[in-house]
Amino acid sequence: MSSERENGRALCSSPINRNPYGHGNTVSDFLSNVSRFKIIESTLREGEQFANAFFDTQKKIEIARALDEFGVDYIELTNPCASDQSRLDCEAICKLGLKAKILTHIRCHMDDARIAVATGVDGVDVMIGTSSLMRQHSHGKDIEYIKKTAIEVINFVKSHGIEVRFSTEDSFRSDLVDLLSIYSAVDQVGVHRVGVADTIGCASPRQVYELIRVLRGVVSCDIETHFHDDAGCAIANAYCALEAGATHIDTSVLGIGERNGITPLGGPDGADGRHASRSKYRLDKLKDLEDLVAEAVQINIPFNNYITGLCAFTHKAGIHAKAILNDPSTYEIINPTDFGMARYVHFASRLTGWNAIRSRAQQLNISMTEKQYKECTAKIKALADIRPIAMDDADSIIRTYYRNIQSGEDNPLMDLNADEIVPFAAKKKEPREVPSA
Ligand SMILES: [Zn+2]
Repeated sequence: MSSERENGRALCSSPINRNPYGHGNTVSDFLSNVSRFKIIESTLREGEQFANAFFDTQKKIEIARALDEFGVDYIELTNPCASDQSRLDCEAICKLGLKAKILTHIRCHMDDARIAVATGVDGVDVMIGTSSLMRQHSHGKDIEYIKKTAIEVINFVKSHGIEVRFSTEDSFRSDLVDLLSIYSAVDQVGVHRVGVADTIGCASPRQVYELIRVLRGVVSCDIETHFHDDAGCAIANAYCALEAGATHIDTSVLGIGERNGITPLGGPDGADGRHASRSKYRLDKLKDLEDLVAEAVQINIPFNNYITGLCAFTHKAGIHAKAILNDPSTYEIINPTDFGMARYVHFASRLTGWNAIRSRAQQLNISMTEKQYKECTAKIKALADIRPIAMDDADSIIRTYYRNIQSGEDNPLMDLNADEIVPFAAKKKEPREVPSA
């Protein structure tokens, strides 16, 4: 973490962040941990609760190794009390000798705690529901009972020399006085982290900021946060929690988890992508990690996924393409190469501009005058007005247009079908100015 902390100091010493991939004129914030957080990666716990998930031992080990290679700080595993196999898998992953600390997730109960500490984990994540609904319909215990049991479990886990976190469940529908009273009590007995969990995905970023900021003033230990994505706020909530002083965030690869899941691993890294060059994580491994998990749970990566989606670094409109070719940071806040991804300027469409066509022609080792690039672009746009065109179509037009110039011939630029010949000829006759972009 030292480099991130140094970074924090460097940013604090200068009032303006001048990173071209940065916010622009962002004044740094002493409370914020946005560029120095730790990841508690829960694909092998929360992710196992995803409807499609079934990880056998071999797959769990493969995922754990990949997460470790990415550089996550912690790997959280399913409660060893869930089944015999869950316990055996937990023991097997503890023996892998990974750099990441291995955690397991348990109910706030001494029976669970005894089994958890015997598995060889580096820490135990304890949780219990504190909202009135959960107290009534889940475990039926009152706040004083929760506090007493939590302290017993925390002292027991600590006596084994390993880390312990205490989290409430459904924190945002719990009474604030109850919450702060419990967190304060566990902080006083030396819990390593308190956890705030939006178990049902109801919190807004503003609520998150306010609660974490209050909690930051109440406890001295680290603050972990866990956000479900029912209302689509899981990434924003994690970001706001860090801004308010949270130190750890729970993630899973592609956000898989109960219902529609939690904050995805790539989300906060994307938000932090502006600082990616100094990140401690192997961000270039993100795509491989997502492919591994997507295949394991048989889902596709959405086209609009932050960072790794099909279109994340594709630029189409002529005016965007021109600026991107001049200086990518004009329309990109994240450098794709930090994530092992490539930028793509989409030049085969009616929106393309002559700068994009010139760039493509140069990739094809074709050099023309500005007037010729513009005329060639007009022909590509004319065809794209009639039907969708592929990259090969645009390349074909560029090449044939260039050959015609060289040879003085007038070969057709494209193989058109009967329905396309007449409208294409009409389009070519229309007076057409190619915009300067
Ligand atoms: Zn959860």
